[in-house]
Amino acid sequence: MEASRTSVDVAIVGAGFAGMYMLHRARQAGLSAQVFERGAGVGGTWFWNRYPGARCDVPSLEYSYQFSEELQQDWNWSEKYATQPEILRYAEHVADRFDLRRNISFNTTVKSLQWQDDSWLVTTVQTAEAAASTTVARFVVLATGCLSSANKPTFRDDHLFAGHTYHTGAWPHDGVDFTGQRVAVIGTGSSGIQAIPLIAQQAKHLTVLQRTPAYSIPARNQQLAPEYIADIKANYPGFRRKNSLTRAALGGDTPTGPHGACEVNDDDRYAALEARWQKGGLLFLGAFNDALTNPESNRLIADFVRDKIRHTVSDQRTAAALTPDSIIGCKRLCVDTGYYDTFNLPNVSLVDLRRCPIERFTTGGIVVGEDEHPVDSIVFATGFDAMTGAIAKITITGRDGMTLHDAWSAGPVNYLGLSVHGFPNLFTITGPGSPSVLTNMIVSIEHHVEWIADCVSWLGNQGRRSIEATADAQDRWVQHVNSVAGMTLYQSCSSWYLGANVPGKPRVFMPLPGFPAYAQRCADVARENYRGFVLD
Ligand SMILES: Cc1cc2nc3c(=O)[nH]c(=O)nc-3n(C[C@H](O)[C@H](O)[C@H](O)COP(=O)(O)OP(=O)(O)OC[C@H]3O[C@@H](n4cnc5c(N)ncnc54)[C@H](O)[C@@H]3O)c2cc1C
Repeated sequence: MEASRTSVDVAIVGAGFAGMYMLHRARQAGLSAQVFERGAGVGGTWFWNRYPGARCDVPSLEYSYQFSEELQQDWNWSEKYATQPEILRYAEHVADRFDLRRNISFNTTVKSLQWQDDSWLVTTVQTAEAAASTTVARFVVLATGCLSSANKPTFRDDHLFAGHTYHTGAWPHDGVDFTGQRVAVIGTGSSGIQAIPLIAQQAKHLTVLQRTPAYSIPARNQQLAPEYIADIKANYPGFRRKNSLTRAALGGDTPTGPHGACEVNDDDRYAALEARWQKGGLLFLGAFNDALTNPESNRLIADFVRDKIRHTVSDQRTAAALTPDSIIGCKRLCVDTGYYDTFNLPNVSLVDLRRCPIERFTTGGIVVGEDEHPVDSIVFATGFDAMTGAIAKITITGRDGMTLHDAWSAGPVNYLGLSVHGFPNLFTITGPGSPSVLTNMIVSIEHHVEWIADCVSWLGNQGRRSIEATADAQDRWVQHVNSVAGMTLYQSCSSWYLGANVPGKPRVFMPLPGFPAYAQRCADVARENYRGFVLD
């Protein structure tokens, strides 16, 4: 039953960092805008992921908006890598500071989008109500998040389990006390690696069920010294500029090394890797400039980390199980605090699912091979249906009745990672086909928001009502993304970048490596009056 119908220039789906800034920027452009958010508050990722240990792995001074000099001067981050509560406080501060909440409908899920008579009909449902509402919007921006659709695998007899289950991406707001409990964590990607050391401190026993070992680099997290913060703030725009000129739009102060890993002798290679290991964090891979293009260089770098694991973990069977044999960096590199040391604790055990997969759940545990592991709680740290999962949950019908589901049946296709042929006036933020999850995402978010806002303003100034990617521009863009990805080692493993963690999802490498070249390409397209788009 349809309850009401309102009309706006721009409908925005999602109130994470992307949706919040899109709203602000749309308002600045003189457009009316409304955000629809499934959750009860702002912050997106940082609203939902409240598991113990959740924090950013891009330094806080970079993992924050740069669009307002006043904001970046006023806000003080306490740690090198801020915790989830601190990042959520920041998102709430931004919402208050820019008076965003008055145009955000919380607890409201966008169910469908339908292109009709030069506008989008946006159908929403409120959590507690059955009645649907429709909003008419000239433009729709999908700020639905790349990592916002939880991936929860099913197991035989999982309905029988009588204990508690949790997903790291939908963590209870009041927290969970595991004291005295036997806990299982399924999954050892970024979230699992952050949560495991802290759950181990509380639980009576922690069983970690690992399908694929990850490479993890120590965070070396620390409180930020006031002098360091002052130093950055003295030239924050310069700091930001330097970062956005790097491939991943982060770490401009620690540039990628000038050599390939095979081009230096063993001692120099060890020294360079050890220096990055001691510094900690994602920039470890930047010690050499060919980590993700030259298999032999990659092997040498991976060997260094494999040695670290062997030297950290006392029990060599456990160490072997924790040691990856894949390309380092092919799956997203993890950043940890005490992850490998955790496996030296007497109350922690590792189950290697590569040797034997989970067979079934019982009322009181998990059966793997011959063994039943008795547990009171199970934590699914099984990640997300990345990049397209949240979009796929919305029924999107474009021009001539074409659905996005059909358009993307063989994997996502689009132009510039921003716009899909057949779906006029619909934009995606940090979607597939853009650098997105391979970057500091706030940089990519701000870049997309500004491009979209400029585009909508330009259309208005030109007296145009709609913009749509041509089929030809889209085809060429897809080829471009594939050829750039094909020059790297990213396609050599079953990662979530490829959709390989979700059964049945088409395997397509979704993000586009290299932020600066991409940003230049987007700027060129705009300057050339939106080349590759049809304007109406
Ligand atoms: C644990 C964790 C740590 C991370 N750390 C980093 C980091 O250190 N650095 C980095 O660059 N990135 C990191 N990321 C990636 C992170 O997702 C982005 O940095 C950023 O927060 C994404 O913002 P967003 O607004 O695009 O999406 P999100 O924050 O995911 O927000 C999207 C919002 O859309 C809402 N939504 C989705 N579908 C609908 C619908 N149909 N109707 C209504 N609402 C909907 C969701 O509820 C959600 O609130 C991390 C991700 C996770 C999960």
